[in-house]
Amino acid sequence: MTGLIDTRTPNPKNFFSGEDHDWELVIGLEVHAQVTSNAKLFSGASTEFGSEQNANVSLVDAAMPGMLPVINEECVRQAVKTGLGLNAKINNRSVFDRKNYFYPDLPQGYQISQLYHPIVGEGVITIQVGPDKQGQFESVEIGVERLHLEQDAGKSMHDQHPTMSFVDLNRSGVALMEIVSKPDIRSIDEAKAYVTKLRSILRYLGTCDGNMDQGSMRADVNVSVREPGGEFGTRCEIKNVNSIRFMGQAIEYEARRQIDILEEGGTVDQETRLFDPVKGETRSMRSKEEAHDYRYFPDPDLLPLEFDDAYVDGIRAELPELPDAKRNRFIGEGLSEYDASILVSDKSIADFYEKVADGRDAKVSANWVINDLLGALNKAGKSLEESPVSADQLGSIIDLIKDGTINGKIAKDVFEIVLEKGGDPAEIVEKEGMAQVTDTGAIEAAVDEIIAANPEKVQQAIEKPNMIGWFVGQVMKATGGKANPQAVNELLRKKING
Ligand code: ADP
Ligand code: MG
Repeated sequence: MTGLIDTRTPNPKNFFSGEDHDWELVIGLEVHAQVTSNAKLFSGASTEFGSEQNANVSLVDAAMPGMLPVINEECVRQAVKTGLGLNAKINNRSVFDRKNYFYPDLPQGYQISQLYHPIVGEGVITIQVGPDKQGQFESVEIGVERLHLEQDAGKSMHDQHPTMSFVDLNRSGVALMEIVSKPDIRSIDEAKAYVTKLRSILRYLGTCDGNMDQGSMRADVNVSVREPGGEFGTRCEIKNVNSIRFMGQAIEYEARRQIDILEEGGTVDQETRLFDPVKGETRSMRSKEEAHDYRYFPDPDLLPLEFDDAYVDGIRAELPELPDAKRNRFIGEGLSEYDASILVSDKSIADFYEKVADGRDAKVSANWVINDLLGALNKAGKSLEESPVSADQLGSIIDLIKDGTINGKIAKDVFEIVLEKGGDPAEIVEKEGMAQVTDTGAIEAAVDEIIAANPEKVQQAIEKPNMIGWFVGQVMKATGGKANPQAVNELLRKKING
């Protein structure tokens, strides 16, 4: 819409190779995020997902003649809150426009949107791309052009009747925030990191549930290619991509397609395309429409939307700690960048971790949450919400190691039991006789026995001190893994090396 500014230095790691030179991708995303609210943007109808078809439709949503839209203040709050979360300029005065077009799922014949005066202006999202092989993340700032409020459309259903199409207006009039990025994204990984980060911020804020599989968040993906650092190329816009994986596939396909055209001496047509997830390709839907095609004009049924700074400040005061701030805090509390990034990626994971780490060692807690719990859930295909191990249970296991009741190895077994059967870790240790053997008498007996049975190994261990590991293993085996490893080590060194 406006003149494009290039804020990025070309990075060869992002380049796509062509026949005789490299190409650089330029990507801009328009994300539609459904506002979390009980009622629609201009009517009192419910927004509940999964309701019976056409159950959530008021006379306004069905566009009955003479019905008047009334702005839902909660949606305004949510948009302002989101703008603040994106470090963006909040516009105290914005205007709703009619975007005119015909579609069977749009009974009004126009969509109420905001073109010239959006509620939120420029902002920025910092994404973390990575980790690379060294576990490092690269921070990249992606500009946000604007955020505006608009109505969602209904849904046409072509597969319910042999000769007719049906329409479900439940979504008609639901509030959407359209969040438009600047063309600052330069790779598939960055595009994925951008959507992931945006979704995470929205979820922290509670302004959109981010459930892409339910259509609460979808992206229009603008892709062009150019010579590295060169002039911006002609873009194609891939509509309504509803998963991060599909977005990656769509960009990859589209970049290749455009590079092939350009390398054969052709030109890319600016058009709107669709991604077909089954075929893994994009195909043309229509040539690109321009703003003037829609005959935008201010909606005469609605006054400009105005609020004062005090209103914005009130919302600012309610903002929760957002992922970037949380991540920095976690790093300050002793976690690596890698661990902190994983933990803050999802608010429920961060909350879970904070419960576990409450009064316990940060690094130890992070290891258990990331490596053991998330690892096990991942294997089982479960989300954290479905975790059979609660933060309290995981915390107790860590406490049992800390106070010497069990050793680290047995702790893994206790964890497995809790994972499969549930239960109180301390009781499990007690009942299953898993407590650590700290009684030096018992450990000493096992040590003596193994030393006596392996005189030649003892000789080797005197010459090669790291042979002691073999003895530790034997003693642990003899004690069912329950011996205190430190005590075992000390005794062995004393007896073998004198
Ligand atoms: P429209 O609504 O017509 O698609 P905008 O001008 O608001 O228009 O741009 C939409 C998106 O396209 C923005 O996210 C912007 O960053 C992106 N974009 C603009 N130019 C390019 C380009 N040459 N290559 C890739 N993306 C682009
Ligand atoms: Mg667009």
